[in-house]
Amino acid sequence: MLNEVGKKNGYSIKGKRFIVYGAARSGFAAAGVILRRGGTAIIIDDASKMSGERKRIAGELIADGGIILLGPSLETKRELLRDADTLILSPGVQLADELREVSAGSGCEIMGELGLAARLCPCPIIAISGSNGKTTTVSLLFEFLKAAGFRTHLVGNVGSSYDAADASGYFIGEKKVLFAGEVGVPFCERLDAINQGDIVVAEVSSYQLESAADFHPGIAVLLNIVEDHLARHGDMDGYIAAKGRMMANQGTGDTTVLNVDDPLVMEAYKVGGGSGDIISFSLHDENADAYSRDGIVYIKVDDDPALLLKREEFSLPGDHNIENLMAAALAARAAGAGLDGIRRVAREFRGVEHRIEWVGEFNGVNVYNDSKATNPDSTIKALAAFDQPVVLILGGYEKGSDFTPLYEILPDNVRHMLIIGSTSERLDHELGARGIGNRTVAGDLAAALDWIKSNGTSGDILLLSPASASFDQYESYEERGRVFKKLTKEKLAGK
Ligand code: ADP
Repeated sequence: MLNEVGKKNGYSIKGKRFIVYGAARSGFAAAGVILRRGGTAIIIDDASKMSGERKRIAGELIADGGIILLGPSLETKRELLRDADTLILSPGVQLADELREVSAGSGCEIMGELGLAARLCPCPIIAISGSNGKTTTVSLLFEFLKAAGFRTHLVGNVGSSYDAADASGYFIGEKKVLFAGEVGVPFCERLDAINQGDIVVAEVSSYQLESAADFHPGIAVLLNIVEDHLARHGDMDGYIAAKGRMMANQGTGDTTVLNVDDPLVMEAYKVGGGSGDIISFSLHDENADAYSRDGIVYIKVDDDPALLLKREEFSLPGDHNIENLMAAALAARAAGAGLDGIRRVAREFRGVEHRIEWVGEFNGVNVYNDSKATNPDSTIKALAAFDQPVVLILGGYEKGSDFTPLYEILPDNVRHMLIIGSTSERLDHELGARGIGNRTVAGDLAAALDWIKSNGTSGDILLLSPASASFDQYESYEERGRVFKKLTKEKLAGK
């Protein structure tokens, strides 16, 4: 069962002076909690203006006593930090070294929205991190725990949208659950609704872990670690250390769920220095607490393997989703959930939007939207899920990722590549240099769909799995996925 940990007894906001750096959703959520619980909050942001929903929420915070400063000078920031008790740093903000020194000098504590919420949270927390698969795993886990009768809250950077019309979600049975409002909100935004005896499932990113030194989840799950976000963390060691921090404060009675197939996961556990009880999963190793063999997924019950699910009973394609399933099932079991409920939910779960989401079949071409694949590793995983001939739509915003691992494993069934986005020139050049000829620079999604309309053959898979972020042409990967689904229907079905 879950340890009653994850909270700092006696921590109180009352009377404390906070600076919240970052006027977006997580900063606003933190400021809201601070003001409601008797602290003062000055919200600062380097941007000089804001609009839309952010402006509206900023107005509410001002009405509640908050102060918002847009585009403050360095000198103003220095002064504010000297006078503050705590700086709440938003995940997107990188604090200048000079300001870090000011905080250290004046005794101003730095933490993130996650760290603040975890201190105030009255119930145990299950934290899930990893380079890929977090959202899929937390969605499964959330449903497993609900089925077991727990009052459960799904928080973290799962959904980033204020607006239900923009939000993505997951599919269970006939139902779509949106990451907006009730599910998938910043932890602080949910805090007032959380009671003792509930369970919080938190999707945590390495950015958030950088500023959550005393974060202590009762159960921590680390799925995988691949090269990503290196610009922010400096190097791979920094990234691994950030992931290790999730487990660093765990001790006896806590549970650490680890992917033993991934050496970097094991390294993060070691570097973190935590000492939670390890529960492991593996696609191959029968010594693990959950593993897969001959099309069956097993989970150990009192050290004996029990059937978790036949692979054909699970809708989500690919080995990587079996890993997500095993991780979620082990965490749910560690929290006290029974196997029958887990099995039932796993059979009903249809997947998360924009993650190898089936869009439909058009003249024999099955179309999948994997817009969430924003790094080469996710695309490698998506390609591994198909045996049929694949036409792959690849490319997007140029963040300097190394595509070599993708080129090296490019399976023979990838019959053509349609290259889009600001990465186009580089990818075209790199593929050319490797002698990979079956490609077209389409430029954008509409042109890619025109290509498939003229050149698609029955039995093809058309897969948008761009291995790149979306910001060159779209607001977000969600928008890219929505546009893709709409254009697919317009161009291929004439709707
Ligand atoms: P995250 O929340 O960590 O970004 P998602 O569940 O949203 O993870 O999946 C992101 C992308 O990674 C999708 O393209 C998905 O197909 C792929 N993916 C999902 N699970 C895994 C996994 N365990 N290993 C590698 N890739 C995965």
